[in-house]
Amino acid sequence: MFIAKSLQREGLIQLSFSVQAKDELARIEERFCCRVAELAALVRFNGEVTGIGTADKRLVLRVSTENAAVARKVFKCLKDAFELPARVSVRRKARLRKNNRYAVQVEDGMNLVKALPKLGLTASAGAVKPGYYRKLLSRDCCRRAFLRGAFLARGSVSSPQSDYHLEIQLDNEADAWDVAEIMQRQSLDARISTRKRKWVVYVKDGSQIVDCLNVMGAHAALLEFENARIYKEMRNQVNRLVNCDTANLNKTVRASVRQEELIHLLSDHMGLYKLSPSLRELAELRLRHPDASLRELGELANPPLSKSCVNHRLRKLEALARKVLSGENE
Ligand SMILES: [Zn+2]
Repeated sequence: MFIAKSLQREGLIQLSFSVQAKDELARIEERFCCRVAELAALVRFNGEVTGIGTADKRLVLRVSTENAAVARKVFKCLKDAFELPARVSVRRKARLRKNNRYAVQVEDGMNLVKALPKLGLTASAGAVKPGYYRKLLSRDCCRRAFLRGAFLARGSVSSPQSDYHLEIQLDNEADAWDVAEIMQRQSLDARISTRKRKWVVYVKDGSQIVDCLNVMGAHAALLEFENARIYKEMRNQVNRLVNCDTANLNKTVRASVRQEELIHLLSDHMGLYKLSPSLRELAELRLRHPDASLRELGELANPPLSKSCVNHRLRKLEALARKVLSGENE
């Protein structure tokens, strides 16, 4: 990770926002109670226990992750909280763009049997299932830590420069509801959807994502997200104003071109001299000042006219032109 950091400083690689947030979260030093809660989430969502039901109870716990800092955290928590000695192995990916995969493995059968219930898990009949959680998540700090663990195990957050989206992808409905409920208790508007046989707990809104990063304790990521969000919203606002001006301008130009055409038609088919003086003045002004707005045309008239008066006379001219045109067609 340090190599990655220095490469990033040199601008050689760009770490995704997700990876940065996870890196920060994995480095948080927490209380003992929270350490257990966070580890419980990491084990439940990214771990597997094998050897259940075998005669000699050779239980093996394996937690895997693509993030080195997360692997280090699991290793440290297992040792600090349960005195479980773990082994870390790395599977390097052949292709450069793929991430390495780290596996933290514990093979201490007896101690593991004691540790699992404390992590809210029960191991029976060849499988590990969520067990008793109430004590584990009784404190607010621990619920936040559990959420942090769930995000470290299965979460991702898109860069604030793109869409606003934070999600935690889980294998089954029960896991999804548990995570969503903890998020909702923190006043987060967590929703659930399914994607390719996975259950996805997500928050969408920019301010919700900021709240979620705050709940989990990713303060540096939160600040970066907020900066990008403010910049993006300002830029959108400027774009909206520019687009609005352009739209108005286009409307003015289109109307002016139409009026010009109709006045030319009148001039060709009946002669502008046949118009009343007031209409004739305006027709000539329009032809001489094709870019002028209605208000500007009014100011050019002698005596000056109000915008609505200009509008009224132009309509009269248009109606007259259409009448001439329909007379021609008969
Ligand atoms: Zn706690």
